[in-house]
Amino acid sequence: SEPILRLRDVHVHFPIKGGVFKRTKDHVRAVDGVDLDVYKGEVLGLVGESGCGKTTLGKAILQLVRATGGSVTYHGDAGETELTTLDDAGLFPFRKRLQIVFQDPHSSLNPAYTIFGSLEDPLRHYGVRSRAERRKIVGDLLEAVNMRREAMDRYPHEFSGGQRQRIGIARALSIEPELIVCDEAVSALDVSIQAQVLQLLMDLKREKQLTYVFITHDLSVTEYLCDRIAVMYLGRIVELCDAEELFANTLHPYTEALLSAIPVADLDRKSERIVLEGDVPSPVNPPSGCPFHPRCRYAQDVCRTDVPALRPYRTAAGGEHLAACHLIDQPPAD
Ligand code: SF4
Repeated sequence: SEPILRLRDVHVHFPIKGGVFKRTKDHVRAVDGVDLDVYKGEVLGLVGESGCGKTTLGKAILQLVRATGGSVTYHGDAGETELTTLDDAGLFPFRKRLQIVFQDPHSSLNPAYTIFGSLEDPLRHYGVRSRAERRKIVGDLLEAVNMRREAMDRYPHEFSGGQRQRIGIARALSIEPELIVCDEAVSALDVSIQAQVLQLLMDLKREKQLTYVFITHDLSVTEYLCDRIAVMYLGRIVELCDAEELFANTLHPYTEALLSAIPVADLDRKSERIVLEGDVPSPVNPPSGCPFHPRCRYAQDVCRTDVPALRPYRTAAGGEHLAACHLIDQPPAD
């Protein structure tokens, strides 16, 4: 399969102003050197605890946050385009192809507007001039997310969380994107509603041949949804492979700990719960060596001094499994 997007050595560092850092030139290293390809038609999971940089990376993919280093190329019919150097006018045709669904539908729906008012906005922006045509498209979009056309004349507060999230998805679909970043898109919903919205996302993907980057802190929703999973820690990818391979042959100690936190009733495998001590360390002064070493139960001296590279290992099926840890005892593929 062809890549839609190719990220190379992407950094997003935010300068910190004021506070205790006033006298220094500190930066939050939200994304700290990420290489990643997103392939046409796949569901790529981006997983990690809050503060690991996954949301910033999702926004950097969409150019909603601009990378401070590295390259993001879009691969379309007309060839490759480097997105990081384009200004707003240059990005305009690409924004149409790359959309986002947020966790909280409130943030994408203006409470003072009817649903039509919120959903017609991107259509108008991209040149659908006639109001009658916009009403027809919005009606069709609402039906596509299993809602009634009449919903367009009501206000966001009249709908439940699950319904608002469907409307958020309809909005992301309105200008026929190729790739949608779903940022914790079901995390705020009850489990039964989560399943419905996930099913809707999968049905829409098939119908409209979409590509998803699915950002979540919850590994348990990724196993059946995602084709590949990238696990992030402190702004870096620490493990990346097919979803099935990740669950069957976990290589990185951080992923192992995340997996062990999934209740055994949900996943019939490891029963030992590995407790991760403390929170993700500050991305202002990340730990030396392997950034996971202060919380890793296998840490050795080398882990405190040397940064482990993300290296490829061979899977049983002959595929590639990337992981960044000094202590993996399989021979690397390179
Ligand atoms: Fe743990 Fe060392 Fe591997 Fe980092 S490199 S995950 S500290 S064993």
